[in-house]
Amino acid sequence: MDTYTAIFGGVSAFRYHDWTMTIKTIKTRFAPSPTGYLHLGNVRTALFNALWSRHWGGQFLLRIEDTDQERSRSEYVAALLEDLRWLGLEWQEGPEVGGPQAPYAQSERAAIYAQYYKLLETTDQAYPCFCTPVELALSRKLQLAAGRPPRYAGTCARLSEAERQARRARGLQPTLRFRVPMAQTVEFTDRVRGPQRFASADIGDFVIRRADDTPQFFFANAVDDALMEVTQVLRGEDHLTNTPRQLLLLQALGLPAPEYGHLALIVGSDGGPLSKREGDLSLRELRAAGYLPEALLNYLARLGHSYERDSWMDPAELAAGFAPERLGRAPARYDAAQLLHWQSEAVRHTHPERLWDWMRLAIHARVPLACQEEFIATVRPNVRFPSDAGFWAERLFGAVLTATPESQAVIFQAGPGFFTHALAAYAEQGAAYQPLVEDLRRRTGLKGKALFMPLRAALTGETHGPELARVLALLSPERIRQRLQACC
Ligand code: GLU
Repeated sequence: MDTYTAIFGGVSAFRYHDWTMTIKTIKTRFAPSPTGYLHLGNVRTALFNALWSRHWGGQFLLRIEDTDQERSRSEYVAALLEDLRWLGLEWQEGPEVGGPQAPYAQSERAAIYAQYYKLLETTDQAYPCFCTPVELALSRKLQLAAGRPPRYAGTCARLSEAERQARRARGLQPTLRFRVPMAQTVEFTDRVRGPQRFASADIGDFVIRRADDTPQFFFANAVDDALMEVTQVLRGEDHLTNTPRQLLLLQALGLPAPEYGHLALIVGSDGGPLSKREGDLSLRELRAAGYLPEALLNYLARLGHSYERDSWMDPAELAAGFAPERLGRAPARYDAAQLLHWQSEAVRHTHPERLWDWMRLAIHARVPLACQEEFIATVRPNVRFPSDAGFWAERLFGAVLTATPESQAVIFQAGPGFFTHALAAYAEQGAAYQPLVEDLRRRTGLKGKALFMPLRAALTGETHGPELARVLALLSPERIRQRLQACC
C-alpha cells in the first residue's frame, strides 16, 4: 500500500496547518441527506470520494445525514443504499455494514451530540438563543436595508442566567448558538480551489442545535467527520462557505479537521442549471432507461476530472488514475453525447451473460436460447439500450418484416431479378457468407454496395445494421428464403 502524506487543511490561527501527518490510509466519505433520490450531481460527489480512497487503498464511509426530520424519508435511505451498490460504490463503513463509530445515521446519534453541546456550553462557546424566527427575519431585513450583510445581531449572546430562566419560563424553546470567536482569520487550503481565507467577524454566531433539539448541519457534519476519523472530504462548492464555520467548531471542540475539497457544480450545456430535460436525472431514471453502471462511472469520473487516457476504463483503472489535482475549478458541463458515448462503450465491454440479463425483457423471448450468444455478438455494436436489442430481435426473428422506406427504395432499384439470383445462390451455397456473395457476384456481375445493400435491405428491412455475415448465420433458412422471395 502506498504511504500517503496529507497536509491537513486547517485554521492557520490555530496552527492547524502545521499538522503534517503521514498516514497509512485515507478515509473519505459520502454524507447524503435522504430527502430525494440520488442524481448525477451527488452521485459524482460519492464517486470522487470513493475513487480517492480506493486509489490509496483507503476506506470509503457512508453516513446518512437525516437530521431534517420533515424532509428525510426512510424510503430514500433504502433507495440510496441500493443505488450506490448498483453503481458499485460499496462502502467499508456505514449503514448495513457497521463499523467502530456506529450508528451511521445522524438521527440515531443524539446522545453523542449531546456531549459535545455540553462541552461548548460549559466553556461558554455556545449559548441558548431565544430569538423567534420572526425576530430574526426582521433583523435580517433591517441589516440588508442598511446595506450590511445579514448576520446574527447577538441579541442573546450575553444574557444572564436570570434572563435565560425568564425566557424559558415564558415557554420559549431556545436554539443553541455557537459563539464565533472575534477577529480571527480562518485559513485553509482547499484541495480543489487552493488557499482560502475568511474573517470570523463576517460569520456571525450560528445555530448548532435547533429549537426542536435536532442538530444543525454544520455541527453534526463536522463532529461526525472528526469522530468517524474521516481524513478527506470532497463535497459540492455550495458548502465552501460552511467550511470556516466547521473549522471554528472543530477547533472549539478540540477535534481534528479533515482536508476539504469543494467540487465545481455540474451545469447544463448552456452553462445554466441542470434541468429535467438535461442531466437532472435520478440514478433510478437512468437505470430504468437502460444505462449501465459502468457507463455512468466512466462518464461521471470525467465530468470535472481529467484522466491521462480517454479510452474506456474499468472501476479499478478509474481509481488508479484518480487524483484530486486533476479536479477542475470551472463548472462541469453536462454533455448528453458524451454520456451516450460511454453507454455504447459500456455495452461493448459488458460480459455477454450480463448483457443478456440487461436486454432480455426488451426482446420479449423472441431470441431462441440456442441463438443467445450469437445474437449478442451480432447486435452488440448496434445496441445502446435494451430497446435497440428488442428492435434487432424483432428484425431477425420476427415473422413479419416491414422494410423502411430507404430499404424499399434499395430493393426496388435492385429489381426482382437480383433477388431471383440471390435465391438461386442461396439454394446452391447456403448461408455461408463468402461463398454466397461470390456466387451472387458471378450471377449478377455486381459488387460492393450494389451487391450488399439490396441483400441487407431484403434480409433485415434496414439499410444499416449488424454485420451481414452474422445476420445470415442467425436467420433461419426459412426466413432467408421468405424474405428473398418477397422481393422477387
Ligand atoms: N448532507 C450534506 C449534503 O447532502 C453533506 C454535505 C457534505 O458533504 O459535507 O449536502
